[in-house]
Amino acid sequence: MSATLIDGRALASALRISVRQKVAELVARGVRPCLAVILVGNDPASRIYVRNKSRASEDTGALSELHEFPDHTAEAALLERIAALNADPRVHGILVQLPLPAQIRTGRVLEAVSPEKDVDGFHLHNLGALVAGRAGFVPCTPAGIIKMITHAGVPLAGRHAVVLGRSNIVGKPMALLLLREDATVTICHSKTRDLALITRQADILVAAVGRAKMVTGAMVKPGACVIDVGINRLADGSLAGDVDFASVKEVAGHLTPVPGGVGPMTVAMLLANTARAAERALAGRAEPR
Ligand code: NDP
Repeated sequence: MSATLIDGRALASALRISVRQKVAELVARGVRPCLAVILVGNDPASRIYVRNKSRASEDTGALSELHEFPDHTAEAALLERIAALNADPRVHGILVQLPLPAQIRTGRVLEAVSPEKDVDGFHLHNLGALVAGRAGFVPCTPAGIIKMITHAGVPLAGRHAVVLGRSNIVGKPMALLLLREDATVTICHSKTRDLALITRQADILVAAVGRAKMVTGAMVKPGACVIDVGINRLADGSLAGDVDFASVKEVAGHLTPVPGGVGPMTVAMLLANTARAAERALAGRAEPR
């Protein structure tokens, strides 16, 4: 048996077309969505992600502006820029590329972004809205994953979903979104015992760990939908997910590739959130609280 691949590039490209239409409508109404991207330091991977997000944003007809800071930047300087961007009516979305250098408190910076411009969905207000089942910006990676699973026709209601990883930006919001879709959810992490015993019970398995190829075919229930969030750079320079593609594709029913799976969808959801932020700004209202 060989799993059906869920093509993140194709789905993202369809989503980007609908964002482009929405941007054109907004422009016709006098507002061009604008995404401000903050990059601190010289991490090569961050630089690539920022470039991709900026290009993708411009491709929809939105504006994107890069705010670069050197590695040794003080937290106060960053907070000052964020305050200026919060107050700038031209700017609808603010994205702070992670990770930040050690001298800067990530939580402090993420909470400085206005919740109405928090298109990454990392602000406590938006995370709280997700917990409470209220409207708000949902983190892009898990939001994109729900779209991928739904698009593949994989049912979620009543199914057992297992999430590997409990970060605030992927694992926890992923679990909450799966719960919102009526899945029965288990969250695993580095202290979880008998991991394979749990993963083998998953109808839907989401791996967001950051360890290359750790999920093998022997850990997967036959026919399961396996979503690979991991992006790991191997010694030879190639990219690998958290899932051992070769063995898992023989067992799973659906599988996302790396690259070309979750990554493009994350970017597409960011664009959708930016257009939505601009739309809400035009309507003169914040997200319902
Ligand atoms: P974090 O490092 O913040 O979290 C990793 C999680 O994995 C932690 O909860 C950790 O547990 C858990 N973990 C570590 N080792 C194990 C193990 N052996 N068994 C079970 N769980 C384990 O990573 P992120 O959530 O930020 O990202 C995860 C991966 O997803 C990374 O590869 C990242 O590059 C990628 N990513 C991809 C995106 C995309 O668009 N495709 C977007 C964002 C991230 P504990 O909490 O106990 O430490």
